[in-house]
Amino acid sequence: MVVRPLEQQSESATDALTTALSQFDAAADRLGLDDGTRGVLRACKRELSVHFPVLMDAGGARIFSGYRVQHNLARGPAKGGLRYHPDVSLDEVRALAMWMTWKSAVVNIPYGGAKGGVIVNPRSLSLGELERLTRRYATEISIIIGEDEDIPAPDVGTDSQIMAWIMDTISMHRGHTHAGVVTGKPVSVGGTLGRAEATGRGLQYVVQEAARERGIGLEGATVAVQGFGNVGAVAANLLALAGARVVAVSDSSGALYNGKGLDLAVLAPFQKDRRPLTEATGGDQISNAELLALPVDFLIPAALEGQINAANAGEVRARVVVEGANGPTTPEADAILAEKGVVLIPDIVANAGGVIVSYFEWVQDLQFYFWEENEVNQRLHTIITRAYGDVARTAEEEGVTLREAAMMVGVSRVVEATKIRGIYP
Ligand code: NAD
Repeated sequence: MVVRPLEQQSESATDALTTALSQFDAAADRLGLDDGTRGVLRACKRELSVHFPVLMDAGGARIFSGYRVQHNLARGPAKGGLRYHPDVSLDEVRALAMWMTWKSAVVNIPYGGAKGGVIVNPRSLSLGELERLTRRYATEISIIIGEDEDIPAPDVGTDSQIMAWIMDTISMHRGHTHAGVVTGKPVSVGGTLGRAEATGRGLQYVVQEAARERGIGLEGATVAVQGFGNVGAVAANLLALAGARVVAVSDSSGALYNGKGLDLAVLAPFQKDRRPLTEATGGDQISNAELLALPVDFLIPAALEGQINAANAGEVRARVVVEGANGPTTPEADAILAEKGVVLIPDIVANAGGVIVSYFEWVQDLQFYFWEENEVNQRLHTIITRAYGDVARTAEEEGVTLREAAMMVGVSRVVEATKIRGIYP
């Protein structure tokens, strides 16, 4: 496989970067940033493209392409997930890396932003092929990752087993265990308690805070979740436990709706075994488009970028959109939702639970000292509700949306670090 030139990359990938840059430019305008600072923050500091062979079970080698992009390191080592998906592209990885910079800054943890990806459908590989691909990709990017430099984590199409293989590969190269080189590992090899649920749990804490502020009781509040994966399924379960009624969930195959509330225990194996929800019972099959248009209290897009866009934002009837995914709403859709009075809690706050607990995992690995799960959850609660409070206050004071406020808070912290450090030499 060869890297597609930029002009041939998928529209949604280009859109992700357009969205990320447009969000940054709007924040830069509001903060009155000079051209030099804008230039620094618009560019990704380091971009590594790799093309590497993997021995396939059927015999022979296949060439795969992947990336690791570090957007900004002013506030600390780079941090960000690894995506295995057929639509991965350099532009998409750039956008995701940039969002990680703002996300780490808005929740005030000492990281810069990075992201990586391999162009592959992981489900098309055997377990052996997946391990060989992962170990070779880890080797290719080992020249820029490390516990002091750049710390990957799971994202779409990757999981804790893949993180364990990466940790082991880097440790083999360096001659001793480097647990802190990746986060999202299994607990038995230096992972933290609470990481698997962290993004969904953080999202639940943010929803609770937003609901409290607006006087919406969570008991009986209706929820629709697009994307029934690591983020969406956990968020659905935790919100249901908190008393909400999850009326619809979806995956890439389709969506399931039950106005009385879905039985999530019955649906759990569909996420775990990656079975299509179109095979599930307990509700009516609807389309993903219909799910996005349901009249619910909370709509949680937790799949991929660009799902709420100029074409369908007008149909959204939710009171609050909570972005579980990164970049699920385009700037045009943001404007349409704001016009309709739909509140949107942006990705860089709503789904920051993952990177916050990844930070805890890294701290524990560096100290060889591990915490109880309730300590992890309590500290997550403290950090994410403080970040939501900072953003909500800024929105109020500046008369802007929560997205605009979150970008202002995140970007201004990175600007401050960049200015204090100065330009080398
Ligand atoms: P995942 O692979 O576990 O789940 C993704 C889900 O989305 C799957 O159920 C998939 O079938 C579904 N999906 C894909 N395309 C879809 C479509 N067009 N319509 C409906 N559903 C679709 O991935 P994940 O880790 O849950 O990540 C989901 C999103 O959350 C991504 O944007 C990711 O970057 C973001 N995110 C993840 C984490 C994390 O800790 N995993 C943290 C922050 C943000």
